[in-house]
Amino acid sequence: MYNVSEFRCAMCGNCCRGEGFVRIKADEAPRIAEFLGLSLDEFLRRYTRTPEIKSQARAGDLWFVDKPGPEQDCIFLENNLCAINPVKPQQCIGFPLKWRTNDIMDYCVGIQRTEHED
Ligand code: SF4
Ligand code: SF4
Repeated sequence: MYNVSEFRCAMCGNCCRGEGFVRIKADEAPRIAEFLGLSLDEFLRRYTRTPEIKSQARAGDLWFVDKPGPEQDCIFLENNLCAINPVKPQQCIGFPLKWRTNDIMDYCVGIQRTEHED
């Protein structure tokens, strides 16, 4: 089992692509819009969609849209880096030390390397 205290992100970008969703809380939207130099309305129109999970939609949360294409990259993934890193949502900040998916060993190069070093 990997040791989370020794985790170092390998910047592979794999957690920012593929199946799943990037959830933003309504109160996170204004600072992301400001960072991008957009009005809140324009940011919401261009980059967000209604969550497919009804409880999240009812709570007023949003999901980022994906880039077009089969890889399902987050719309803000650029060359395996986050284009909004200083203002990225709490979901992104918390991964993988606060939360992770069950199959993280399949795609997170940082976790794979941490395990390899044990
Ligand atoms: S907002 Fe940034 S960190 Fe979060 S999924 Fe998108 S590219 Fe990755
Ligand atoms: S999948 Fe893991 S190693 Fe790759 S960018 Fe995400 S946290 Fe870093």
